Amino acid sequence: MPQPDNAPVYDIVIIGAGPAGCACALALKDAGLRVAILDKQNFPRDKVCGDAIPGRAIKTLRNIDPAYEASFRQFSKKFATKKTSLFYKGQAITFNWVGEAYTCARMDFDNFLFSLVKENTGTEIFTDTTPGTLIISNDHVTIPVKNSDRTITAKMIIGADGAQSAVAKQLTNRTVDRDHYVGSVRAYYENVADLNNDTTDIYFDKRFLPSYLWVFPLPGNMANVGFGMLSSEIAKRKINIKKAFYEFIEQTPELKLKFKDAVLYGDLEGFGLPLGSKIGVLSGARYMLTGDAASLIDPISGDGIGNAMLSGRLAALQAIQCFQQNNFTAPFMQGYDSALTGALGKELKARYRAQRILSKVPALLDVVFFAGKNKILKKVIQKGL
Ligand SMILES: Cc1cc2nc3c(=O)[nH]c(=O)nc-3n(C[C@H](O)[C@H](O)[C@H](O)COP(=O)(O)OP(=O)(O)OC[C@H]3O[C@@H](n4cnc5c(N)ncnc54)[C@H](O)[C@@H]3O)c2cc1C
Repeated sequence: MPQPDNAPVYDIVIIGAGPAGCACALALKDAGLRVAILDKQNFPRDKVCGDAIPGRAIKTLRNIDPAYEASFRQFSKKFATKKTSLFYKGQAITFNWVGEAYTCARMDFDNFLFSLVKENTGTEIFTDTTPGTLIISNDHVTIPVKNSDRTITAKMIIGADGAQSAVAKQLTNRTVDRDHYVGSVRAYYENVADLNNDTTDIYFDKRFLPSYLWVFPLPGNMANVGFGMLSSEIAKRKINIKKAFYEFIEQTPELKLKFKDAVLYGDLEGFGLPLGSKIGVLSGARYMLTGDAASLIDPISGDGIGNAMLSGRLAALQAIQCFQQNNFTAPFMQGYDSALTGALGKELKARYRAQRILSKVPALLDVVFFAGKNKILKKVIQKGL
């Protein structure tokens, strides 16, 4: 039967093929829907990040399909990290984690997820493809492709296009709230001294509390090194974050020694972290937002990969319901909001409270170091990590 001109070509178009978008595509594998994923870049591609892969990312892979989790366990370009060492005022303290976590360069991790989508699902993949102005009408979404005369249509779209989400900006008028956004820089270094493959290092400096500089080990004698601060603090205190990064290393005796023979690999790059301390609009008629496009990053640890993947999976589950009920209205889409805030809301609120307390009472860090010397209190802290 001939299709009308405006018939949706796809059931679902996912915009962005990072952790959120790939988790969503993987979770839609057996839904019997015609799915496409678009990304403005080609893969493999880098993404500025700390490269710490939280346990929630692996748990989400398992929940989608245990075979994907098994593939990740076979994946060699990673370290399993089991401890964090904190350094402050010349003291060091090491905490063992209860949960699992890894470090893996995002170039490799994201390409691993992208390859899972490519090899295991019928998702149609369009890289080097950027959508223009989206038009949501009664029965479909029109997605013009920038710099081309092509137009893609779908019954619904899922915004998974990261911290600077064009989908969120267009559909929800989202703007950056500096009190809930971190400005950060990250560099790769080769040959950093005294790295343990199973330990992530965090350095505090009283000038920047509760922010910290991280040094995370990566395969190939590499380290991911970065520093970030709330954007409102950066603006208020007129901090040049790139300068502060180099000064942090230069003026912290342990770091100066650690980086004595280290070689900067590539550039010091900046990027933003939209924090889950303020979650905005998550969905509307015929669309949902996931991952950084929905502002889901943990305000204390900066972890966003696990939450992005969880949101991608939950968006897929909601999308399946939409097709089962043939209902794409804004009120029905709220099922996704409820599922996501049910899964993450309490945790994000508690982490935000902790972030606020630590920034108002920096002396609490001294308490953590004091408590960490006590076996029982240390166990309590480790459980909360
Ligand atoms: C410096 C820094 C350190 C961090 N450290 C950690 C960490 O150690 N652990 C952790 O868990 N999290 C960390 N995060 C957060 C983490 O990087 C993000 O939460 C995570 O990448 C979110 O995944 P996502 O899929 O939502 O977005 P992204 O990973 O940003 O993926 C979005 C995808 O969309 C594509 N895209 C963007 N715009 C468009 C467009 N207009 N059209 C089409 N495609 C588009 C991009 O090319 C990209 O492939 C850090 C972030 C920063 C900035």
